[in-house]
Amino acid sequence: MTSVILIYVCLLCYDAANTNNASGNPELRSVKRVQKNGLSAAELEKLPKVTGEDLLPGSDCAVCLDEIGSEQPVKLIPGCNHGFHAECIDIWLSKNSACPICRVVIGPDFFDPTENQC
Ligand SMILES: [Zn+2]
Ligand SMILES: [Zn+2]
Repeated sequence: MTSVILIYVCLLCYDAANTNNASGNPELRSVKRVQKNGLSAAELEKLPKVTGEDLLPGSDCAVCLDEIGSEQPVKLIPGCNHGFHAECIDIWLSKNSACPICRVVIGPDFFDPTENQC
């Protein structure tokens, strides 16, 4: 947990250094803050991809509440391994960074397994 906070603080430092360059433009800053609530497209690409047949038969997607067919593309949440339709979880995670079922938060450490300090 501490490493997560450390990484977050590092990101904040990095962000602060970046926003200094755009100090004359407060709008840029608020856009950045909004994007922090969800994952970037690059991060979404890194989620483990499987198909419906790798899930339990009859699994439902908690985002659209529809059944996940065995041929449908599925993405898994790192950490809890809950699966959803790939297109549903992409939309969800672009606005939130938590699993819709168990609320585990997908932090930067999921995408950077080498726990480097700054
Ligand atoms: Zn769905
Ligand atoms: Zn979950």
